[in-house]
Amino acid sequence: MNRDLTVTRATAAHAGETLRRLGGPEAALLAQRLAVETQGEVLFDIGSRGRYATDASIYQTLPLGVFVPSSPQDVAIAIDIARDLKTPLLPRGGGSSQCGQTTGAALVIDTTKHLRTVLAFDKAARTVEVEPGIVLDHLNAYLKPHGLCYPVDVSTSAQATLGGMAGNNACGSRSIAYGNMVHNVLGVDGWLSDGSRISFGPVATLGAKERAIADFVKRLADRHQADIEARWPKLLRRVAGYNLDIFHPQSELPYTPDGSVNLAHLLVGAEGTLAFTRSLRLKLAPLPRSKVLGVVNFTSFYRAMDSAQHIVKLGPTAVELVDRTMIELSRANPAFRPTIETALTGQPDAILLVEFSGDDKTALLRQLKQLVDLMAELGLPGSVIELTDDSAQQALWDVRKAGLNIMMSLKGDGKPVSFIEDCAVPLAHLAEYTEALTQVFAQHGTRGTWYAHASVGTLHVRPILDMRKSGPDGGAHKMRAIAEQASELVRKYKGAYSGEHGDGLCRGEWIEWQFGPRLNDALRAIKQHLDPLNLMNPGKIIDPPKMDDASLFRYAPGYKTIVLKPVFDWSAWNVQNDPASESITAPGSGGDTTGGLAKAVEMCNNNGHCRKFDAGTMCPSYRVTRDEKHLTRGRANTLRLALSNQLGDESFTGDAVREALDLCVGCKGCRRECPTGVDMAKMKLEFTAHDKARHGFTLKDRLIAHLPDYAAWASAVPWLFNLANRPWAKPWREKWLGWSAQRSLPSFRRDSFWRSAARLMLATREQALAAAKPVVLFVDTFNGHFDSENAVAAVQVLQAAGYTVHAAVTPGGGHVCCGRTYLAAGMTDKARAKARELLQALLPFAQRGIAIVGLEPSCLLTMRDEMLVSGFGPDAQTLSDNAWLLEEFLAREAQAGRFAPSFKAATQAMRVHGHCHQKAFGAIQPVLDVLKLIPGAEPELIESACCGMAGSFGYDANHHAVSMQMAELNLLPAVRAAPAAIIVADGTSCRQQIADGSGRQALHVARVLADHLNTAHTPA
Ligand SMILES: Cc1cc2nc3c(=O)[nH]c(=O)nc-3n(C[C@H](O)[C@H](O)[C@H](O)COP(=O)(O)OP(=O)(O)OC[C@H]3O[C@@H](n4cnc5c(N)ncnc54)[C@H](O)[C@@H]3O)c2cc1C
Ligand code: SF4
Ligand code: SF4
Repeated sequence: MNRDLTVTRATAAHAGETLRRLGGPEAALLAQRLAVETQGEVLFDIGSRGRYATDASIYQTLPLGVFVPSSPQDVAIAIDIARDLKTPLLPRGGGSSQCGQTTGAALVIDTTKHLRTVLAFDKAARTVEVEPGIVLDHLNAYLKPHGLCYPVDVSTSAQATLGGMAGNNACGSRSIAYGNMVHNVLGVDGWLSDGSRISFGPVATLGAKERAIADFVKRLADRHQADIEARWPKLLRRVAGYNLDIFHPQSELPYTPDGSVNLAHLLVGAEGTLAFTRSLRLKLAPLPRSKVLGVVNFTSFYRAMDSAQHIVKLGPTAVELVDRTMIELSRANPAFRPTIETALTGQPDAILLVEFSGDDKTALLRQLKQLVDLMAELGLPGSVIELTDDSAQQALWDVRKAGLNIMMSLKGDGKPVSFIEDCAVPLAHLAEYTEALTQVFAQHGTRGTWYAHASVGTLHVRPILDMRKSGPDGGAHKMRAIAEQASELVRKYKGAYSGEHGDGLCRGEWIEWQFGPRLNDALRAIKQHLDPLNLMNPGKIIDPPKMDDASLFRYAPGYKTIVLKPVFDWSAWNVQNDPASESITAPGSGGDTTGGLAKAVEMCNNNGHCRKFDAGTMCPSYRVTRDEKHLTRGRANTLRLALSNQLGDESFTGDAVREALDLCVGCKGCRRECPTGVDMAKMKLEFTAHDKARHGFTLKDRLIAHLPDYAAWASAVPWLFNLANRPWAKPWREKWLGWSAQRSLPSFRRDSFWRSAARLMLATREQALAAAKPVVLFVDTFNGHFDSENAVAAVQVLQAAGYTVHAAVTPGGGHVCCGRTYLAAGMTDKARAKARELLQALLPFAQRGIAIVGLEPSCLLTMRDEMLVSGFGPDAQTLSDNAWLLEEFLAREAQAGRFAPSFKAATQAMRVHGHCHQKAFGAIQPVLDVLKLIPGAEPELIESACCGMAGSFGYDANHHAVSMQMAELNLLPAVRAAPAAIIVADGTSCRQQIADGSGRQALHVARVLADHLNTAHTPA
């Protein structure tokens, strides 16, 4: 059914019937016309609509449908069709808005996939023209070689689009130096909902149509000048409503350097309610050559707030707050602890990050010295940690940027809620305002964590509320009460209620409160003039709903999940929290009808961080498709809707979920890189188990899953099994089993590790238990039967360093197996049986602290991941604590002085590709560390995401193309660029992908080490 509703020219007629049934005649006609008249993607299935129903706010509204245009022409046609059918339109970028402005019962038009081109660049004039879907980081990567940047540095720079940033009048940490979007947009071209093209820029340059609009707005502004002057907040950080003040400027920082009027500024902050942006002309800034950072440590939060007004007088480019809760959360996070600790002296209650930037380092150091002196004058001598090294500063900024996401990792139904998150007040009142608001939170039995832009009086704070609870203790009730009290404070201190994240649904109703009824009517007049049919993102800015209208909530009171017995233990997520103390109840006590699975899925707060293309892994399928469906967030949303029965006829094991998970390669990138720890790889295993239990196993599933069972006898007659790799067999193999004809399957061999183990002088179980320097080698199915050189090499390296090596076998003497192939196929009972056998074999060693060392990352790390949630109790933890990848073990031993074999000098360069699970468990550095034990070796890490093979994923004929695209993103080009280097890759499937894609033979780290042993080692 889903596929039917991804409407194409060919399916348009057929889809109409289903659409009429599900979405009504309007949706059917809309989808059909879009499919026939445009080249874009027309997504009207319930899964796609559900994925576009939310943004990073607490709201959710199912759109009529989703359109992904392939060109500006497609957008123009879509606007015409929508107008013909009187269908509302909702432009969308990364969907990272916090106020619900990107949600609505409209046709959502997603610009991020195709409309992301740099259209023109003038280096001398320092201007650039871009399409709306380009992401800020990508634009800045383009500008960097030219020494320029676009300086509105939002925290979401890796996913925020310029169209969305303009829509929200976004502002970055350095707004005190550069201003907001409105200060940095030179022109906007777009379409009005009547289909006409507009080109907004300086009023002196406008065409006739645009001039008429400018005259209309000017007349309004003139008529209301007195009100504008009386009611408009006189702050840099005011983003509410439309910028009617372009004609009578009120911002602390003028919108244009010469005070002239630019009509494009009317569209900045309009949240897609006035026009659809086609392109933006932007003002660029030179990249500062130097930066220094002073971290001021305060023993009281109040003093930090009170000091901001003095610090800004020194001319910093940023003054950012990190409060005690955030400091503690960062300290508790292994990835952030080393960085945050470099910035602290004593036990501060808050720190301010004060940055000075410019071209003259000496001048910056002088400013830093002035900061140190100022703090001494203010009674805080010795409170400033000076960071002058670029990488140390960047690391600390990364912690600050991750602040909100660190906070959002709170488990339980109470979540930090964004609704008064960016009120701005003049700096002189910042301390009193924050103190008063903290008391308001306490009155309502909650508290908030404070952070962000102290320089401009915009502090982010989110009280913890449970939106699912109704009544006086419920989230909606408390939200309104807190909002009303906060607004009184904002008025008292002459601040702005909406200072950064826009109005959307949670702040729309406060526009009239801020500006008064007359100005509100003036804003309505602008809307009516530009969009008389009210087609552009209706219900935002003009005539918004109540912020606490529960029908718009993602988790409204009465929100229910289905009953489901999960195969894994998700009870760690099945908890509740206390909003005041943030303490968590016992695992399993959270009342989740899915045993915690739903709550684990709900950890996704839609911030969109997974829409990234940086050096990390997450999310490979999004990186190659740019489809919301193939993104961790898209998957989490699909699962959430399925688990809460919101996918219409679709069930948890229906098409919508299966399609969303189809390209998830199980890389576990999200497990590490998603700020709230959404572990989609495990969720996919959970889904697969239920799906297969309902729909049954295919022959391919069985052949993959049972490989550990038949591998031993297949290696006795390898010629028979290897027939499958003959050229004549490949097309049949693809036809009958679905294994791509373009792949060779791993070849069985007679000389497998297990068949030749007798020659390796391995220790028995008893010898190992009694040895002085014992180690247990876990030889998995892949290294035991296919790439046996690796296991042999590992034995050689370990024995050369004096270890007594025992190769683990089951209590019955069989080959051990972690159960991974069964897990991947959805046979969880069988996987559990294998894992139990493994546990029995290894536990006696683990209990004595004897290291269990493995070679295949995904197999060994199963002991540190899935086995811990498979019902084995504390024994699984004991095993996990003693399970190491070979390189982890050797790096640890080398550091302790116990591993120091004699190596020959390296003669070749080395490039290392990390297996995704190695990266997910932070186990890549040890590979580099042990390779560096070889004299002269300078291993370099290839900055690659997933290789695309991912177990059996890339062997599947349906996945072959996408698998190769993943490999071509970074890995294969890097391999080709180093023709003389040794390519090191520990994963069996990674090595296969490298061989298939480049013809090069990559080596396991064990082999590289063994090849460099000084004298060929003869087993002891
Ligand atoms: C963790 C986190 C941190 C954040 N930090 C910051 C921050 O530091 N500073 C800040 O300002 N914001 C911040 N935000 C809010 C948000 O990320 C930014 O405002 C961002 O610029 C939105 O970009 P987007 O591409 O996601 O836009 P979207 O959310 O997709 O859209 C934003 C608005 O623009 C409109 N729009 C999008 N494209 C067009 C178009 N082509 N034509 C007309 N209208 C369009 C949309 O309709 C919508 O109303 C943060 C959000 C999160 C979740
Ligand atoms: S999956 Fe994680 S990174 Fe992606 S949007 Fe959800 S919380 Fe953010
Ligand atoms: S496991 Fe990998 S492919 Fe799957 S959602 Fe997470 S990052 Fe994406």
